[in-house]
Amino acid sequence: VFLEQQFDLVVIGSGPGGYVAAIKAAQLGLKTACVEKNATYGGTCLNVGCIPSKAMLHNSHLYHMAQHGELKKRGIEFQNVSLNLPVFLKQKDDAVKGLTSGVAYLFKSNKVTGVRGHGSISGAGEVTVKKEDGSSETLKTKNILIAVGSEVTPFPGITIDEESIVSSTGALSLKQVPKKMVLIGAGVIGLELGSVWSRLGADVTCVEFLSNIGGVGIDMEVSKAFQKILTKQGLKFKLDTKVTGAEKSGDSIRVNVEGAKGGNGETLDCDTLLVCIGRRPYTKELGLDSVGIQLDKRGRIEVDKNFQTACKGIYAIGDCIQGPMLAHKAEDEGIICVESIATGHEPHIDYNCVPSVIYTYPEVSWIGKSEEQLKQEGIKYKVGRFPMAANSRAKTINEAEGFVKVLSDAKTDRILGVHMINSVAGELINEAALAMEYGASCEDVARVCHAHPTWSESLKEANLQAYFGKAINF
Ligand code: FAD
Ligand code: NAD
Repeated sequence: VFLEQQFDLVVIGSGPGGYVAAIKAAQLGLKTACVEKNATYGGTCLNVGCIPSKAMLHNSHLYHMAQHGELKKRGIEFQNVSLNLPVFLKQKDDAVKGLTSGVAYLFKSNKVTGVRGHGSISGAGEVTVKKEDGSSETLKTKNILIAVGSEVTPFPGITIDEESIVSSTGALSLKQVPKKMVLIGAGVIGLELGSVWSRLGADVTCVEFLSNIGGVGIDMEVSKAFQKILTKQGLKFKLDTKVTGAEKSGDSIRVNVEGAKGGNGETLDCDTLLVCIGRRPYTKELGLDSVGIQLDKRGRIEVDKNFQTACKGIYAIGDCIQGPMLAHKAEDEGIICVESIATGHEPHIDYNCVPSVIYTYPEVSWIGKSEEQLKQEGIKYKVGRFPMAANSRAKTINEAEGFVKVLSDAKTDRILGVHMINSVAGELINEAALAMEYGASCEDVARVCHAHPTWSESLKEANLQAYFGKAINF
């Protein structure tokens, strides 16, 4: 069908990187196709990542509030609270369905040609799509954008069956609440999905190789406070500990662990094991060899500042290149990459201004440098802190755990990093992102009129403390 058609751009992959890039390209007047091997559009994020996990995080939080007397304290009484897991999971599936079909609708309305099948590069300017029925089709194109994303990093020697030994994908659809769950890796996925199943009643133990939770880039003060809060909620942590293997016998799984630097071994028993030690680029059968594109040591596609690979006219973005594996990072790269293809303007992205969020309760978020990074780089900085317990909105609705911390340049007052734990940290961090993108000083933010009573006043007050030395309400 497409044989005679010449596209300006063929995008391989319809995750947040690929589908957003395809829509933007079409809006800029490029004749665009997007190839997706899966049955639905949206990639990891919409199908088995951001979206289903957030549905489960939200609803498990409500269940936990009801179950643990948080609603009773507020005068909301009822007799019994019980979990209907099939309905709980269906709400998540419905959310996914709604959003993935939304992408199909957006493709139509923006005139992006969606092509179902596995795409591979068969030469410069040529993508061959292998269809489910075995047939294949060749798309001719001026440019190719690789947005193939990532897959779960396997744990050597542990076979994931997605039933009792699961990756994040299986952990989004467990048929029953585990009695005992062990997870390998207390990074973002471990803490989010560990929280979900713990709130639903599982006894969750997180085994982490490092001495802290939260993964790469988290500020240590935040990480420690976060661990305390999660421990209070019932999660157990084994830090400085590595998993050496796991055996399954019947319904039981024995997980062998030992000190990160060796030392005494121990066995943890569980019925569900979640492997979440990171993700790796997915570049299987993509035909990179045919055009001389190589991968780096970590399997990532190398690109220049224009996101162009070693082969002219072939670009790559998102989880399959360097940088944090985040949906919004993939989206932003997609947009500026196709803008640069369409207009010739050089793309610009400041990776220091890409926010990170962990959607637990409370939420954790950060942007820019941590205290540890500033110390390491020898940068003199000031700290402005504001506890949520002194924020009127948080206090009023009994969500007063956590704090906001602002780090600024000691000489210029410019904001260098913002780190926080609170119930809306995922929203509030975007104000910090805006401030940092515009090169704001702490005084700038502190002098902006913030509505009252809002959580965001805590960010204003932390900035006030950083530049003036004193906040008003603390
Ligand atoms: P992907 O979303 O992985 O999409 C790649 C697409 O390409 C897939 O649909 C794949 O089928 C397709 N594809 C691959 N190869 C081919 C081929 N040869 N031919 C055709 N199609 C192909 N990030 C956040 O920012 N916030 C979150 O809250 C968040 N939560 C997450 C929760 C979980 C459980 C997981 C696993 C991840 C989460 N992430 C989150 C990370 C986020 O999902 C990824 O960073 C994001 O999806 C990357 O987008 P992408 O477009 O680069 O790749
Ligand atoms: P991660 O890198 O966040 O965490 C993996 C953790 O596993 C690390 O802390 C690491 O030290 C630990 N680890 C590695 N090997 C180990 C071993 N043998 N024993 C014990 N611990 C070990 O990776 P993830 O949680 O799997 O998430 C994958 C990706 O998905 C991340 O890049 C993340 O950005 C993305 N994601 C983002 C969100 C979000 O933005 N809210 C949510 C989920 C996933």
